[in-house]
Amino acid sequence: MSKTIFEHSVAGRRGATLPQRELDSKIQDLISPEYLREAAPRLPQVSEMDVMRHYIKLSHQNHFIEKGLYPLGSCTMKYNPKSHEALARHSCFNNIHPCQPESTLQGSLEMLYELQKDLAEISGMSQVTLQPVAGAQGEFTGIKIIAAYHQAKGNHHKTRIIVPDSAHGTNPATCSLVGYDVVELRSNARGRCDLEHLKSIVDENTAGFMLTNPNTLGLFEDQIEEIAAIIHGVDGLIYMDGANLNALLGIVQPGKIGFDVLHFNLHKTFATPHGGGGPGGGPVGVVEKLVPYLPVPLIGKNEEGYFFDYGHAGSSIGKVHTFYGNFAVLLRAYFYIKMLGAEGLRRISENAVINANYLMALLREHYHIQYAGPCMHEFVADSLWQKKEHGVSTLDIAKRLLDKGFHAPTIYFPLIVPEAMMIEPTETESKESLDAFAAAMLEIAQECRENPELLHEAPLTTPVRRVDDVRAVKVLDVAFPIED
Ligand SMILES: *Cc1c(COP(=O)(O)O)cnc(C)c1O
Repeated sequence: MSKTIFEHSVAGRRGATLPQRELDSKIQDLISPEYLREAAPRLPQVSEMDVMRHYIKLSHQNHFIEKGLYPLGSCTMKYNPKSHEALARHSCFNNIHPCQPESTLQGSLEMLYELQKDLAEISGMSQVTLQPVAGAQGEFTGIKIIAAYHQAKGNHHKTRIIVPDSAHGTNPATCSLVGYDVVELRSNARGRCDLEHLKSIVDENTAGFMLTNPNTLGLFEDQIEEIAAIIHGVDGLIYMDGANLNALLGIVQPGKIGFDVLHFNLHKTFATPHGGGGPGGGPVGVVEKLVPYLPVPLIGKNEEGYFFDYGHAGSSIGKVHTFYGNFAVLLRAYFYIKMLGAEGLRRISENAVINANYLMALLREHYHIQYAGPCMHEFVADSLWQKKEHGVSTLDIAKRLLDKGFHAPTIYFPLIVPEAMMIEPTETESKESLDAFAAAMLEIAQECRENPELLHEAPLTTPVRRVDDVRAVKVLDVAFPIED
């Protein structure tokens, strides 16, 4: 960053007026002299206006959902109600402590209890733990539960979990972390699980199967019953990566079609804004026979009210996070679900699916789509034509989108589509904004034909041009440059 962006200090300028008071002599006695400052700290000397303009200017150099469409496939960057932010910050919830006696926490416990129930209903599962704080941690919890089930049944020979080649990277990572060997399953020409291949790799050693539905191509895995018969046939369990539930709300209950364990990403589907690794929520739902293995405590209810239920502590996998998860994230999900109700949730999914299909139809003639057919909440286009005919890559196209005021889609994922662009518009975009995004993509397709050089140079209008992302991660330097 150039020095001029950060240097606004003018000697003697002030942004705040503090009361003139000598430090209370008693306080002064309490502080050891070595901690007392002799000279004033070297802080920027700026007015309130300087500070405001500085931060607003910096914020505009970033991209965020309130600024423009953010079609990041799989990551579901949708607009979330601001009223839920205000509610989650309300002093009623912020001034409580998890170690308070249960009798003084009844309102908050009721909310957690209701959320457990609502998520169980949405997913068709028997019970839900709210403890995991990320999708990946939900996966870890779910696979630990599968391991605990096999342990209890003496299935010690079961050492493998099957994961499709289109899976999110966290899936195989999770299996390895829990101690399983990962067996990769091929996708077929329809972009779904190849059942013949599945039959050939399933055996007595199969502990489970991890499947994302809709899968990362944005396609509904329509052979779940056959898959369930194959996996359950060897006493394996089926895990659903439910990070992308935006297409299924009120339409499909995974627990009713053969899945045994599932995690939610509250920070994708249920109203917690995300990005930058902020706090999340990855609750896990399970079918009846796996309830004994859920982390402790669950939130229970009896005649006296709501309580922390440690009843299954003997068989539980234990705790996966301090206290009860990310409470404020859980609150937002609760408000969101109650505000929308069953019908509203279904409408979200219907609109997410319609928006994605509409956008796909607008782009289909201009960008290659490897797996055709109706999509769910997202679809994967690619730049096969642009690459072959004009030498323009997906990275070039993604960078050019920034010049046109849009965030890029997820690129180069899933790995089974070369030059992939994974586009998820979400239900919160209007027809006008979808049209505007499609128009930008069409303009770029034209630029590829007329001026491919321009695309290799993009972005041209952003404060920072192309960066070396590998170096940026490895040699992280975010310190304010101080010169003496
Ligand atoms: C986002 C995502 C995850 C991981 O969720 P985190 O909260 O980032 O850990 C897992 N699977 C899929 C399909 C995802 O989109």
